Amino acid sequence: MQKKDIDWSKLGFGYMKTDWRYSRIWKDGSWQEGGLTDKAEVTISECAGALQYAQTGFEGLKVYETKKGEIVAFRPDLNAERLQRTCDRLVMPKISTGDFIDALDQLVKANLGYVPPYGSGATLYIRPFIYGCGPVIGVAPSPSYEFRMFCTPVGPYFKGGVKPIRIMLSDYDRAAPHGTGDIKAGLNYAMSLYAGEAAHKAGFSENMYLDAATRTYVEETGGANFIFITRDGRKVITPKSPSILPSITRRSLMVVARDYLGLEVEERPVRFDEVSSFAEVGLCGTAAVISPVGQIHTKDGDVDVPSGMQEMGPVLTRLRETITGIQMGEIEAPEGWIHRIC
Ligand SMILES: *Cc1c(COP(=O)(O)O)cnc(C)c1O
Repeated sequence: MQKKDIDWSKLGFGYMKTDWRYSRIWKDGSWQEGGLTDKAEVTISECAGALQYAQTGFEGLKVYETKKGEIVAFRPDLNAERLQRTCDRLVMPKISTGDFIDALDQLVKANLGYVPPYGSGATLYIRPFIYGCGPVIGVAPSPSYEFRMFCTPVGPYFKGGVKPIRIMLSDYDRAAPHGTGDIKAGLNYAMSLYAGEAAHKAGFSENMYLDAATRTYVEETGGANFIFITRDGRKVITPKSPSILPSITRRSLMVVARDYLGLEVEERPVRFDEVSSFAEVGLCGTAAVISPVGQIHTKDGDVDVPSGMQEMGPVLTRLRETITGIQMGEIEAPEGWIHRIC
């Protein structure tokens, strides 16, 4: 299909309306037949569960044009499974992994002109979500739901791409210890906006959260998990906590670190006061892939990460190059990681 006339290199991380999106309604106890629509707006009850009680969950994944010209998605089965967990926790009906991937295939094939060309540095971001669209005034699950999936071509998440960023440690908590911190839900993002804006206003890219119960351990930022590289450059450590979102990028990076780069990997609680002992600090997620952190600002002073503010450290650079090489079809992927759409 003819590519759309878009200046791919100028894209930031933003929404662009594309031609088609997928929609499927759940009502009267079952999923109706789904399909593509060109309507980019939704009309729902003013009393919809999503609007009144934040009964809504989402996913985010990327589609790539590979070196060979194939159009592929990176581990979409894990996004489907995570959305199923989110639906369970928010009492919403689930979409099967098969139906999720079928919707993805239909959506991408209908919008092929928006898939950024190989080597452009841009990708097609896919946003699946499920929300309660039927009316609820007493606190209860919504009587009806929409599963929707749209796509938008995107460039780098942070301005400057892989330049180190400065983040801030504030007194805000992202998620309660036994709350919903481990699901991808709008409610967690709504609760992180205030701290995120405070960080932005103070000149930082993100806010860093500690565990709400003890304020001792590193959790994550509003939308990305942490990885740390030890001073000897041989080990990747990532925080373990029941209230952080299980990032697919982070889980994939741990496999890449171990199996492709021969590094040791460890998932364990990480105290904030240990952070200054690491050589490199990275934020990882689908949107940013890996973003290096150069400095962490706290009210007791700044933590300067040894890899500095000039460029990404050497281990994070190798991790980033390897995972993007796998995603773009330049490096052979582990079995089952790449879903070919066409
Ligand atoms: C989506 C998300 C991430 C990153 O997860 P990926 O699966 O790697 O995209 C990290 N933290 C939060 C809170 C998220 O919502």
